Order: sequence, then structure tokens, then C-alpha cells
Amino acid sequence: MQEYQKDPQGSQGGKSSEGVDISFISRYPEADRLFISRAFELASQAHAQQKRLSGEPYATHLVAVARYLAELGLDPQTIAAGFLHDTLEDTTLTAADLEKEFGSEVAFLVQGVTKIKTIEHAVSGSTTRSREEHLNSIKKMFFAMAEDVRVILIKLMDRLHNLQTIAPLSPENQRRIASETMEIYAPIASRLSLGSIRGQLEDLSFPILYPTEYSWLKGKIKERFADRLRYVEKAKKAVLKHLGESNIPVIEVQSRAKHLYSLYQKMVRDNVDLDKVYDLVAIRIIVPDIKSCYETLGIIHQFYVPLAGRIKDYIAMPKPNGYQSLHTTVFCEKGKIVEIQIRTPEMHRHAELGIASHWAYTEGGKRNTHADHKELEWINQLKEFLKDVKNSESFEALKPDFFKTRIFVFTPKGDVEDLPEGATPIDLAYAIHTNLGHSLRGAKVNGKMVSIDYPLRNGDVVEIIKGKEIKPSRDWLGIVKTNEARRRIKSWFNQ
Ligand code: MN
Repeated sequence: MQEYQKDPQGSQGGKSSEGVDISFISRYPEADRLFISRAFELASQAHAQQKRLSGEPYATHLVAVARYLAELGLDPQTIAAGFLHDTLEDTTLTAADLEKEFGSEVAFLVQGVTKIKTIEHAVSGSTTRSREEHLNSIKKMFFAMAEDVRVILIKLMDRLHNLQTIAPLSPENQRRIASETMEIYAPIASRLSLGSIRGQLEDLSFPILYPTEYSWLKGKIKERFADRLRYVEKAKKAVLKHLGESNIPVIEVQSRAKHLYSLYQKMVRDNVDLDKVYDLVAIRIIVPDIKSCYETLGIIHQFYVPLAGRIKDYIAMPKPNGYQSLHTTVFCEKGKIVEIQIRTPEMHRHAELGIASHWAYTEGGKRNTHADHKELEWINQLKEFLKDVKNSESFEALKPDFFKTRIFVFTPKGDVEDLPEGATPIDLAYAIHTNLGHSLRGAKVNGKMVSIDYPLRNGDVVEIIKGKEIKPSRDWLGIVKTNEARRRIKSWFNQ
């Protein structure tokens, strides 16, 4: 079982056991492969004594998360962080160790993932909060973590693999994880235009949350689905022939099966009969450029009559998350109705990988030059998402330099407070409650005692330690950063 640890090249040595094969790193240049396999080795050793609930070696989880990140085409630092994402919480390794071995970027990413987890545990451990408060806290937490989208991508892949291996958990925990996924992780994946990840997250949560509806749908579509797949395979050939004869340079024709949960929503929410779901299995045509997209649409309509009102030009008018394609629904071979999607490789990449495509690995390891711009875009997207958060304060007033001037910190219960940069535990205590401020005697940040003038940082989990007496100190006036705290301290002394 230890064998793979001595084999940093993964399957190249042919010794890796099932589930801990890291041959997927072969897509990276040699220097990066060595960097990534060192992360794999260290993570495997650090977790060597641990098993997953299923009894499998813990490394199976780490390898799955790193592999999904590699499939998104992310940079070597993110893949290394994928292997190491649980080390700070579950092993004796420290952030300083990670920084020494792999540099500050990897250490930063792993710390980000660990913070999310700390807060998640605090939030789900709380019994006094309503479900809505619970979900709002997690949503805000994502906002606080939005400084580096790669942290969120690691977290999404972590969640994906945890859902794939959820069976050994208690039904109660399964339901909690599935409902968080449906309400937070899947919408975030969607916002980031990670279409395939979103579909997988929903399809894995669906049977846990709605077992009856799931079996009903499964039974209903079983045969239809197989028929449909067989038909589309034949139709694809005919379509390809027409396009070839018209000299359209087709790169690829794919068939795409609709995700089950999205089908369920269409049938129940939009009240559409299964016979009218034309994209149960759709045909997707990839052509080199935009001109060929419209030419392809023309050829398709020349041979197959389109259904009125079903032609959608998402190239001229992209969806809010940036999705682009031409969609049409036609009477295809033998008069059967089929949805056809036409797009360029670039549009396809965006649809599948979304924001991750901006972090994609490029030769020489340089980040995409648009990355910083895209980063801002990501923050805006997340702001949009958070507008949906009910009963929470408005984020309208956010300045562009928001993250330079405000920080988010968390109570051990998972409540979120936003404070100006440099705010101290005293400011936090007063922000929570005047009497909590007056009786403050100390504070713990991320589990460690700190001085009361400690400058809090974004994502810190802060526990305020109360004394028996309600009695602030005059010295605090020279320490606090918020007017609110200052005013309350003064007013106590004035009384
Ligand atoms: Mn994990």
C-alpha cells in the first residue's frame, strides 16, 4: 500500500494501485511534473495513517481532487494544492512547511481551502441557527474567499469527490451535504460557467434529497434514453455527411445527454412533458470560427426544418455567465425532433471549464495575461450571485477596492462580520454587541491566543473571551479602528 509513495512518477513506474494513479500529470512539462509529484508524495506520507470512511486509503481522495483540477487544465500550483488541500487540517504539516517546500502560492491556496472548512464545520455544528442563516453564512464565506478563485475551484472539486463517495455517511449528513451542494456549490459552479461540474453536483445530490422523484424519473426515461442515444448516433453521421459535402470544416460532432436533475427541473418546474424535451440527447457541433457557426446553422436548416421559436443566438447575445453557442431544434433524420448546438472550440472551452479556463496552464507556466481582469470579473459575478441572498445586508455599496479596505471575519459559530482593514478583536467584539465589547478580556484567532490589538485578517475565525466584569479600558481608545467601538467606549466612560 505504501508503494506509490516511492514512485513519484505515478503510473510511469507501473506500481500504482487503483485510485492512486497520478499518470494524469503527464500533460505537464517535466519540471512541473516533479513539483506536482513532490506534493503528492508529501501529502500521501502525511495522510498515510488515515483512511476514508469507505476504508480506502486517504490518498484516493487527494488524487481524485488533483485529477479533476488537472482536467480543468489548471496550473501546477493548484494541482499541488489539490493534493495537499487537507494537510493543514488533518495532519501535522503546517503552512510554514508548505511554504518552505512549495512556495507561498501553494501555502496560500491550501490555507484558503482550510479556512472554508473551519467555517463550514463551525456553521454546521451550530444548533441555534436556522437553515437560512446557515446557508447565508456559507455564501458570505465564499465572498470573503473570493480573492483567489482557485481556492473555490479546489473546494468545488473536493465537494464533487466527497459526493461521489458519500455512501458511508449517515443519512442526516448526506442530506446536509446534498442540500448545501444544491443551494450553494451548484449555483456557484453555474455562475462560473462550469456547466459539467454543476451538472454532476446536482445529479449526485438529486437522489439524496428527492429519492422518490429520482426513482420516478429514472424509471420513466430508462428506455427512452437508450433509444434516443442510438438514434442520435445515427443522426450524427447524416449531419456530418451534409456538412462535409458543403465543405464546412467540422472539428467534432458530439452527442450530449441532458443531466438528470436539469431534466427533472424542466419537467416539474416548467411543466414540460418528456416527449417535448428535445434536448434529452442533443447533438453538438464544434467548428473552427464564428463564421463557420452561422454557415453550419444555414446548412442544418437547409436539410432539416427548424421548429419555430427555438433558434437561439447566444453568440450575438451571450448568457449572463458568458455562455455562447447557436441552438436550434429541428426535425432531423426520420422527422424526429433534435436539439443541435453549434460552437467554436473557444466557446466550448468556456462552457465546460468556465472561469477555470482563464487559469489554464500555459507553456512556460505564465498566467494568462487577462487573469487579473478576469479576477475582477469573478468578483463581480459573485456579487451578482450574492444579490440573491435574502435578508442580508446590501453589497451595493462595494467599492472597486473593496478587498483592500474591508475584511471578513467569522465567529466560531460561523457568523460573519465585515470590518475595516486593521480592525482588532475589540472592534469585532463591539460590532457583535456593546456588552461583549465592554467585557472583553482576550481573544483567540484561528484557535490561538492573540493580544487584543492584533490586526485581524480576512477569513480569520475569532473567538472573543469575556471576563466577569463589564468594564472597558481607556487604553482601547488608542487601539480600535472603528468609530462604532470608539463611540461605545467613550459613552461608557461618560456615564
Ligand atoms: Mn478534502
